[in-house]
Amino acid sequence: MNEIWESVRTLIGQQIKGDNFERFFGPLRPLELEPHRLRLGVHNEFLRQWIADHYLDVIRECTAQVLCREVEVVLETCAAQIDATPSAVQPVPGHEKRVEVPLPSSPRVEAEPLPALPNFPLNPSYTFETFVVGPSNQLAFAACESVAANPAQSYNPLYIYGGTGLGKTHLLHAIAHSIRKRDPDLRITYVSAEEFTNQLVTSLRNGAPNNQMHSFRDFYRMRSDVLLVDDVHVLGGKERTQEEFFHTFNALHQARKQVILTSDCAPEEISGLTERLRSRFNWGLSADVSAPDLETRVAIIERMAAREGLDLPHDVAFLIAGRARTNVRELEGALVRVAAHAHLRNRPITRELVADALARMNGDTERGPSMDLIVQTVASHFDLKVEDLRGQRRHQVVAQPRSIAMYLCRKHVQASYPAIGQQFGGKDHSTVIHACRKIEANLGTDPALQSLIRTIERKLPG
Ligand code: ADP
Ligand code: MG
Repeated sequence: MNEIWESVRTLIGQQIKGDNFERFFGPLRPLELEPHRLRLGVHNEFLRQWIADHYLDVIRECTAQVLCREVEVVLETCAAQIDATPSAVQPVPGHEKRVEVPLPSSPRVEAEPLPALPNFPLNPSYTFETFVVGPSNQLAFAACESVAANPAQSYNPLYIYGGTGLGKTHLLHAIAHSIRKRDPDLRITYVSAEEFTNQLVTSLRNGAPNNQMHSFRDFYRMRSDVLLVDDVHVLGGKERTQEEFFHTFNALHQARKQVILTSDCAPEEISGLTERLRSRFNWGLSADVSAPDLETRVAIIERMAAREGLDLPHDVAFLIAGRARTNVRELEGALVRVAAHAHLRNRPITRELVADALARMNGDTERGPSMDLIVQTVASHFDLKVEDLRGQRRHQVVAQPRSIAMYLCRKHVQASYPAIGQQFGGKDHSTVIHACRKIEANLGTDPALQSLIRTIERKLPG
């Protein structure tokens, strides 16, 4: 029977490529072949349902091809029998890379010996080596390196947050690469919070809820030594997913497994996040990544150019870095654009070519934010009206946001104090000075305020 199944698997492997093949057909075992029926087993109800939903037809077709007759294919959940035949399945040609999860030697995880965790796609170029470190991401980078070197021994969880395109996913993949290299036995699970949500919804929807949920839980809680979850801010407002994630988190944390999370904002700022998850997100270390400064952007762009084999003079790298300021993805986009122009016109990359290629890229954002925009941004961040900020009310609810807005006008527009006072309903310049000084003083001692300001600043252009 094993030989027949091997032939079927080989056929399936020709149709279903890469990760999905490993993920779903690695764990599948032949149990019994009757004249009109093939019984297959998988250890986990969650996987069984998934395979049944997505791959039953393929399995049926390939089996019919091998046997030259139609048979019914039945999928069953049965951990014990699967463990008994671990050698039944050899990698299919082209899929040799399958990672067998070694049996845990110590009390690592008391789950049944399982085949590979889904061989999730890691971007091979997202490594620590390719990540350019500068003041904007130094702390996050160091924390990631530390966690990768000693999972579950330094910061748990590690929570990386910052605006889009600033390297969070890159760092997460880098941790996974680094751990894999150092200790291939550690089982790493990488999932985006969105995918986690979708998987949960699927398990809840598909039949026998208890069984399904059991498998879903097992999938995350029992089979990971390191759990990496990207973009946890999307959990905001999703109560059921948060509940599930809460228990997943607890189980892993108690078992001293490393959890690493990324988000586009600090835990305090995820709206619709339950208090208990918020507090757990803060148990370990939170490190933010912000927009890189000019020098870091130049270093990033030069590294990208080198990787692509582009000949990029230093002063031209500065020019591009000066144009793309808000995030690294934008920087990449600018370089691609420049490279395309050079290639299409068959010209070297010069200052003129860059000026031409990027002419319409940034538009107004070149000049940075205006006071109007700052007031609007701050108002919307605090769910206030612009008139509230410009008005006279002194209630704390408006007073602090107003002070922050004044401080940001000073910092980003370099406006004079009287001019700022003018923006805020004709306030006296001494009021503005007082507000700005107060924010500056508090910034030195109040990390929550620092992170609040950074979050607002990320919403500003330039
Ligand atoms: P995020 O997840 O924060 O939205 P990504 O990790 O997807 O951002 O990064 C966007 C792109 O910018 C990726 O191609 C990434 O490799 C690159 N990048 C971001 N920060 C850096 C950095 N410091 N050094 C090198 N590349 C970076
Ligand atoms: Mg990302």
